[in-house]
Amino acid sequence: MKAEILKVLRERGDYVSGQQLCEYFNVSRTAVWKAINQLKEEGYEVEAVRNKGYRIASSPDVITKEELVSQLNTMWAGQTLFCYEEIDSTNTKARQLGDEGLVNGTLVVADCQRTGRGRRGRIWESPRGKNIYMSLLLRPEFPPDKASMLTLVMALSVYEGLKENLSLDFKIKWPNDIVCGNKKVVGILTEMSTQIDYINHVVIGTGINVNIDEFPDELKEMATSIKIETGRLWKRSMLIASILRAFEKNYEIFTQTNDLSKLQEKYNSILINKDKEVRILGDKEAYVAYALGINEKGELLVRKSDGSVDAVYAGEVSVRGLYGYTS
Ligand code: ATP
Repeated sequence: MKAEILKVLRERGDYVSGQQLCEYFNVSRTAVWKAINQLKEEGYEVEAVRNKGYRIASSPDVITKEELVSQLNTMWAGQTLFCYEEIDSTNTKARQLGDEGLVNGTLVVADCQRTGRGRRGRIWESPRGKNIYMSLLLRPEFPPDKASMLTLVMALSVYEGLKENLSLDFKIKWPNDIVCGNKKVVGILTEMSTQIDYINHVVIGTGINVNIDEFPDELKEMATSIKIETGRLWKRSMLIASILRAFEKNYEIFTQTNDLSKLQEKYNSILINKDKEVRILGDKEAYVAYALGINEKGELLVRKSDGSVDAVYAGEVSVRGLYGYTS
């Protein structure tokens, strides 16, 4: 009830009378009044004016189900939603929900992660109340070898979702990070459960530094947040909604061909590594090459010193600039 009332008030953006809310949801005046009081207790500023009704004047930056439901206007992404104050990892939870059979588009969001993860066993710093930690469960019908490209589809979608709200100069660092001024703002981790020739499910986890002010010493040089870059706080729920809308659109485009052929131009136009010398760090070898951009499979095309062109597959390597993280 709280969530529905919040959604109606948000969508209307103006006063809605108590009577209208009662009729709309077929509940008593007391039930509406209770829901409004609960919203106030959670930090929503609700104006109540005689003969006019209720209006949301301002809302807190919270990751609750009703807040997210009231912001989300997607078709399927996030329409089944699990919100947690604290969790070990949203990816772990989404994978578990995937194993239990939850639907395509199920979203897990948490206010804090105890053991947020990055690629190859790395840690994702996930303090409480400040950032976005979310994992989207997908049940694609394409073969398993296509799934790693979804990381790039999400990177593009996060970029577009953020750009809808912010005028910061974001760029993508291949394959899975979004950076601002050479520092990392977003990390993406895709994990999947497969049989030999089909996908059970894919989970795409996204961590976004939104309102965090300070990083631990080891991250200070390479990490930043939207708050640090803009000097103000941002509503996480609003950013999540924009990103999921962008993802739905890009996923639809991706599944027309099951590759990145229709997204690659946009991706390459915001790729920080493009037309630069990069250092490719593999498990066994490291070499310097000139990055040309991604191909339709999401591999990074690099020209080596002997003139030959390699297609680098994301699973195996990290890419750095010659002198630092990106340049
Ligand atoms: P690489 O740059 O080598 O490709 P990666 O981008 O794949 O690495 P991830 O696995 O996505 O790295 O993220 C984990 C790494 O990101 C950690 O090892 C740490 O250096 C850094 N990191 C951890 N938490 C944060 C955070 N909140 N913001 C920015 N960077 C972080």
